[in-house]
Amino acid sequence: MPDSDGHITSGIILVVEDNIPFGELVAGTLREEGYQCYTASSGAAALAWLATHPASLVLLDYTLPDMTGEAFIAAMNAQGSQVPFVVVTGRDDSNLAVQMIKHGASDFVVKDTALLDRLPVVVSRTLQEAQVKQRLQQAEQALSQSELRLSRAQRIARIGSWEWSLQTNELYFSPELFSILGYTKATPQVSPEWLYQQVNPADIPVVRKALAVTIESGRCLDLTFRIATCSGDEIVVASQAELELDTAGRPELLVGTLLDVTDRTKAEQEIHHLANYDALTGLPNRNLMHDRLQQAIVQSVRMQGSVGVLLLDLDRFKGVNESLGHKAGDQLLRTVAERLRVCVRESDTLARVGGDEFVVVLSIVADEDGVSSAASKILAIISEPFVIEEQELYLTASIGVAVYPTDGADVHTLLKHADLAMYQAKDMDRNNFQFFSSDLNVKVMERMVLESSLRRALERDEFELFYQAQVDVVERSIIGFEALLRWRHPDLGMISPDKFIPLAEETGLILSIGEWVIRTACRQAKSWQDAGLPPIRMAVNLSGKQFRTKLDQVVASILLETGLGASWLELELTESILMRNAAENQQLLQALSGMGCSLSIDDFGTGYSSLAYLKNFPLGRLKIDRSFVRDIITNPDDRAIAKIIIDMAHTLKMEVTAEGVEDHDQLELLKSYGCREIQGFLFSKPLAAAAAEALLRNGIKF
Ligand code: C2E
Ligand code: MG
Ligand code: MG
Repeated sequence: MPDSDGHITSGIILVVEDNIPFGELVAGTLREEGYQCYTASSGAAALAWLATHPASLVLLDYTLPDMTGEAFIAAMNAQGSQVPFVVVTGRDDSNLAVQMIKHGASDFVVKDTALLDRLPVVVSRTLQEAQVKQRLQQAEQALSQSELRLSRAQRIARIGSWEWSLQTNELYFSPELFSILGYTKATPQVSPEWLYQQVNPADIPVVRKALAVTIESGRCLDLTFRIATCSGDEIVVASQAELELDTAGRPELLVGTLLDVTDRTKAEQEIHHLANYDALTGLPNRNLMHDRLQQAIVQSVRMQGSVGVLLLDLDRFKGVNESLGHKAGDQLLRTVAERLRVCVRESDTLARVGGDEFVVVLSIVADEDGVSSAASKILAIISEPFVIEEQELYLTASIGVAVYPTDGADVHTLLKHADLAMYQAKDMDRNNFQFFSSDLNVKVMERMVLESSLRRALERDEFELFYQAQVDVVERSIIGFEALLRWRHPDLGMISPDKFIPLAEETGLILSIGEWVIRTACRQAKSWQDAGLPPIRMAVNLSGKQFRTKLDQVVASILLETGLGASWLELELTESILMRNAAENQQLLQALSGMGCSLSIDDFGTGYSSLAYLKNFPLGRLKIDRSFVRDIITNPDDRAIAKIIIDMAHTLKMEVTAEGVEDHDQLELLKSYGCREIQGFLFSKPLAAAAAEALLRNGIKF
């Protein structure tokens, strides 16, 4: 323990002295100072004691009976003892003193009369020095351990460190940094010049600038750049550094770390790529297209130009997928992408934004003509034949165009309007492009809303059949009902079939809807029969789409299911349906007629079919279109047409029904021409099932 003067007055001291009384005298003196003292009278005894006891200091008599001082020190070292020692000798010999100090002695005292007085000071000082030395050793050890740990951590984390002396322009790399750069054996002489030779030339300005900023401002350096490795490969590294100033406040040293971030950068790039590019075609995706369009808008504001947005949708691509498989579909999309690439300029953006949807952003176009010619070019290049899996395919596309700033001020509006225009192009029989116009907006929006709710109408049970009576004016009785479809839209109310049947046909929904109509109408007719009401014929309208499927099977199974006799079911078709696939229809109509169903031609007179031609089909009835009936009184042409239809139908032994009869004059005229079946508001509007039933029960009065 050091006392208040800093003297150390505790410790274990071994006095090695063959003169036992003198040894005891020395020990006694030191004990009085507070030390624990032991004595040994020979070198061997002292070494034995030291081997088993802790000691703070050895006082060593230079001349021992069994060994010299040097020999004793050598033995002590061999034992691994680190105990400091002070040599005591009878001779005042400075050579010996130097020699002993060289051997590691802490001090040297002569056995003279002043010895006992001096000894405590020497002992205390030696112990003090030993303590300082020990602390220093511990600190050094701790430091080297922590350095070891740091360098191990850096090695594991693959962090290299470097120092750049700004005053001498010397550069130092840690071994780990060399290893990051791939130098495993011989390491090059590094210098700033050497470093710049390794950095990717494109990154040199960035590196220089970052260093200059750090040196000037003292701000931390934080920098990522590409650098060549020993093998010539390139890696991406991130470096951070701090500036150290000298005592005069001048920049002296840059101390930094360096990390290989190649993998991380690659992963980041991959993520970026995934987020912004389409995997199939490698084109920008919707995400990136949005950004590019935004940039193009900003740029065009500056340059006072326009931006063209072309939304392209391949026509009937679904069919390719369905008939040739998705692999072929994918290949086709890639080829389309390749062709489109050729059409766009470097500054434009071509993106794939959906299954078969592409967007071309034409940045800075002078006028609409520029956009038109780009769209024409695209249509032309798409219409050239494709060869996919050794098959030649023909494809067309519909393009909707919106132009900034006329058709929208922002990305969202422009894309929405291009989309609407594209729908318009599809409507115009595809393979064309349409510019957005604002009336389009309303029309197409309505249609889109309708389409999405139509898809859900069946499952939500929103359809209903109304029934319009067909009256035999001679018998004065209801002989039939025509089932007319109604859609009770939850928001839009009752929607008439003219509005949604075309859409149902286009989307293919007509198949399931049409089947529902036949089933519901048959079930209704049967239930009226079962209720004992006069049996009537039930007429159902058919769409052309339904005609192409196995309609005969559908009808047969519905008749079976509902129990309605086939002769009570009449199917109404239009002339155009009939003419479109005459040969196929012939078979289908024969099958239906063979089952016992009756067939009629609806809206007759509006198509181009000749009555003679119609004779080839097993048709039982013609329905004179409403348009001739409407003006039959005032328009002699309509009157003549109506009369001819009625006469010819009779010649061909077909029945005739006049539609749309609203007043008695019309009725009387038609009756006078020999038409006995009448359908129209005069007798009844189309009615909901309950009202139609009441009408049937009570009969028609006129
Ligand atoms: P359509 O088959 O010619 O049906 C007759 C249409 O004329 C009905 O219109 C009916 O309400 C209307 N009408 C009947 N009498 C008069 C009259 O005296 N004056 C006037 N102004 N109109 C009269 P609705 O119900 O709107 O049906 C329109 C068309 O929708 C139908 O014409 C038919 O082509 C089609 N349609 C109706 N239901 C179905 C269906 O279930 N499937 C298919 N594919 N088409 C249907
Ligand atoms: Mg009809
Ligand atoms: Mg009609």
